[in-house]
Amino acid sequence: EDGFSDHTQMPKDTLHDGLIAPGFDEGSCLSRYQSNLYRKISPHKPSSYLLSRLRNYEHLHKKCGPRTKSYKAAMAQFKSSDQGNSSVGGSTECKYVVWISYSGLGNKILTITSAFLYALLTNRVLLVDPGKDMADLFCEPFPEHSWLLSKDFSIKEKFNKFDQKSPHCYGNMLKNKKNTSSELVPSFLYLHLAHDYDEQDKLFFCDEHQTLTGKVPWLIMRTDNYFVPSLFLMPSFEQELEKLFPEKETVFHHLGRYLFHPSNHVWGLITRYYQAHLAKADERIGIQVRTFESGPSPLQHVMNQIYACVFKEKLLPQVDKQKPAVTAPSGIPKLKSVLITSLTSGYSENMRNMYWEHPTVNGDLIGVFQPSHEGHQQTDKNLHDRKAWAEMYLLSLCDVLVTSAWSTFGYVAQGLGGLKPWILYKPENQTMPNPPCRQVMSMEPCFHAPPFYDCKAKRGVDTGALVPHVRHCEDMSWGLKLV
Ligand code: GDP
Repeated sequence: EDGFSDHTQMPKDTLHDGLIAPGFDEGSCLSRYQSNLYRKISPHKPSSYLLSRLRNYEHLHKKCGPRTKSYKAAMAQFKSSDQGNSSVGGSTECKYVVWISYSGLGNKILTITSAFLYALLTNRVLLVDPGKDMADLFCEPFPEHSWLLSKDFSIKEKFNKFDQKSPHCYGNMLKNKKNTSSELVPSFLYLHLAHDYDEQDKLFFCDEHQTLTGKVPWLIMRTDNYFVPSLFLMPSFEQELEKLFPEKETVFHHLGRYLFHPSNHVWGLITRYYQAHLAKADERIGIQVRTFESGPSPLQHVMNQIYACVFKEKLLPQVDKQKPAVTAPSGIPKLKSVLITSLTSGYSENMRNMYWEHPTVNGDLIGVFQPSHEGHQQTDKNLHDRKAWAEMYLLSLCDVLVTSAWSTFGYVAQGLGGLKPWILYKPENQTMPNPPCRQVMSMEPCFHAPPFYDCKAKRGVDTGALVPHVRHCEDMSWGLKLV
């Protein structure tokens, strides 16, 4: 079908099912108003409660965001305690979650989403450390005031020094039994929620610990994990989350489309590529190849795994190696475009050659395209990150997805696209897994390092077996995801 004639006339307030607030300048962020020309209408509608909470959030952000009176007041308190004064927090009008820029781009998108949901649940304002690339990659998601932390934020240079051993690290304070009595509320806390966090850091996910953290004006968070599933296991957030997301597997689908609009640079990369290579196809198949194996090249067994998966699941046709050409195709042949993303070019070269050298058994025509092959991860290099974001987005515009185990790059694509991909199991010992892939239960990302702790009983528990909507992931047996 022709993707360009659809809903261009749609009134702006109904765009993205009401996820987008009115009042943005169109030219500064073309993707916000043009993405509906490329993306199919989502069958998943945000709840009216979510929409009203987002509008409330925008109101709060306007009141508390950078350069406002409230922000300056909160900042003054922060600065005085940062300079060693034992000033206590708790009295500021606005409270904040500060997200520290950390890890690869897929991870960043998932952790900002987690931090935003936490902010929404606790009536805080989300502020994003711009790092090297945030302003270059994304439009502002909230009207009027920026979500980027202003340059005068005094602790910015110290972000790198925040770790589990910092005196302001909540887990560390618990270890030293310091300052955690509820009378003494510090003006800021560092929350270490990265993959290497320990037992005490994980207590953040226990309700009784939210009593103190809830009073602290500045929560500064470092994480490389999509921790949303654990928020769903906290009784204090249960009712609110039920109202926000009656359909549990849509958390990232809605919040991701609300927060992440490609900047005009990235939008150019996306739209030029889409129009040149994908728009005319009858069907678009995205294949995201990400390998985490060290040692010899995984090309051969991963290539075999991809073919085994797409043929078994009938996502792409087999080729006929006996015939030089198809004589009379049975029906009208389809044109299918395969979009392969990978750091290396071997997979797409192999597939492109196969479909050129041999006819398909059903006469379908297959074009194989790969936008870039960057060689290795180069996080925080401008053009590299732009391409990574453009490729995640292009994958999300496909009709069918095949993704790699363990990769947040793939999770972002599936969530934005509202797609349930076939996930390629992680190969062990240089061999192709059997079965090669399976379709996932839900389009939600996987939380790779969840706590396994029963806060009430104070002992270990399988957090993937407590409620029907929080399950272990398909690609990582100890991970948790919403279904
Ligand atoms: P993850 O490591 O797969 O969970 O995904 P991340 O996005 O967090 O980190 C991987 C980073 O490697 C990406 O952000 C890119 O910088 C780079 N990368 C990995 N795969 C690709 C790819 O297929 N295309 C491009 N352009 N970059 C990639």
